[in-house]
Amino acid sequence: MAVTKLPEEVTLQPETTAFLSSGPKKLLIGGEWVSAASGETFETVNPATGEVLMEAAAAGEADVDAAAHAAREAFISGPWSQMNGYQRADLLWRLAELIDQHADELAELETLDNGKPLKISRRVDIPQAAKHLKYYAGWANKIEGSTIPVSFPNNLVYTVREPVGVVGAIIPWNFPLLMATWKLAPALAAGNTVILKPAEQTPLTALRLGELIAEAGFPPGVINILTGFGVPAGSAITAHMGIDKVAFTGSTAVGRRIMEAAATSNLKRVSLELGGKSPNIIFADADMAGAVRGANWAIFSNAGQECVAGSRLFIERPVFDEVLDGLVAQSERVRVGNGFTNANMGPIISEKQLSNILGYLETDSDNIEIVTGGERLTGELAEGYFLPPTIVTHDNDSLTIVNEEVFGPVVTVTAFDEWEEIVERANLTNYGLAAGIWTRDIGKAHRLAHAIKAGTVWINQYGMIDAPAPFGGFKQSGHGREMGKDALDLYTETKTVWVSLG
Ligand code: ADP
Repeated sequence: MAVTKLPEEVTLQPETTAFLSSGPKKLLIGGEWVSAASGETFETVNPATGEVLMEAAAAGEADVDAAAHAAREAFISGPWSQMNGYQRADLLWRLAELIDQHADELAELETLDNGKPLKISRRVDIPQAAKHLKYYAGWANKIEGSTIPVSFPNNLVYTVREPVGVVGAIIPWNFPLLMATWKLAPALAAGNTVILKPAEQTPLTALRLGELIAEAGFPPGVINILTGFGVPAGSAITAHMGIDKVAFTGSTAVGRRIMEAAATSNLKRVSLELGGKSPNIIFADADMAGAVRGANWAIFSNAGQECVAGSRLFIERPVFDEVLDGLVAQSERVRVGNGFTNANMGPIISEKQLSNILGYLETDSDNIEIVTGGERLTGELAEGYFLPPTIVTHDNDSLTIVNEEVFGPVVTVTAFDEWEEIVERANLTNYGLAAGIWTRDIGKAHRLAHAIKAGTVWINQYGMIDAPAPFGGFKQSGHGREMGKDALDLYTETKTVWVSLG
């Protein structure tokens, strides 16, 4: 089962090989690894080779129900319910250390399952996941209420912040382990219990995390891991009456369904981190070399499979040709290939996703010019799902490819002339996740940062994200802010206590 077409010189860590040959993998419910009630399984595939990596249990409604009960019991009466913030901090920190200790193996699993270059998994995904847990370990004993001065005499009024209860965390495939920790860390710091559903394309690191969770000493039922499909596993989580909150990262279309399911079940709390169509704006007075490098990174890192991808590039007209030529040259130096080689861009996650991306290029083919890329790579890479960096120019903001999230290495490039024009066009989107601004005029940069409706704005850089800095979307890019202190709001209820002083 563990066979994958690796470049000849690569040998996997023994732990990676052992993990891959220990399948089919089961669900983690109430501290036990169990098969799906239906007995169903699914295969996870290496997108660089098209080969099957492992079989995992496909959770359904009955498994979600069992996990919801286990999580409720752990929340109400298990050892977790008696733990204080110091103890929760210790557990989170221990899990982070285990991730660090097993970083090589986790990075290999991530690269096999998702395709991204091993050095990115090793330098970004895995250490950032550990860092995230450590950051929220720091919060676990600092979640405080306040005392409130009120207009009535002889009253003491104070607030306490309590965990919401059982949290369903539904996550995508683009940063599998990291996205799991974005949800787990603040939820656990605040004292909730969790049902984690990784994306069906990338279950491996969540499953290995489940083993490390037991090793760290989390009591049974605190973290339950259900592999499986959006429907029925994800949808059963969103509809379950015994789950108090759903934290979701994924597409806007699914986010909409999650809100509907919450509305028609128990009005569970919902936080959503959804799609984007982020403008990246280069002014004529920018540091050109930096802006070109930044534009390249903004769209081609993780093969463009990022919610914050700088997918709409606006270039001030006097430097349009210079920037475009620079970007094309830069993008043609990107090495596309199997993540275990020296490639710095991996495959698209699946055949289906690749054909969605190519569909966008096809739909608008009469109104765009493909300057570079645009065709699936063949030859040695034919069995994987590879698309090279793709740059298209246009002068029509109403095109589908300019409005919808492509979620691939495709940037649409256009020129602008005026201040009012760029403010309007940058905001001409249903999304509002991120934006980039490149200029040496710091006043202009700040004015534009204020005018753009987006949750994160980067000035003279792109894509910086860190655990302490809040992250989330305006408009249809989502609800709520993850990361930083803000994320604790997503995982706590405020209780107000009125005391009569007689
Ligand atoms: P993408 O388009 O990036 O694959 P999706 O939004 O489809 O992202 O998937 C993100 C996560 O949402 C995955 O874990 C997927 O299984 C899950 N999911 C998909 N459909 C549903 C649904 N109807 N209800 C709940 N979760 C879902």
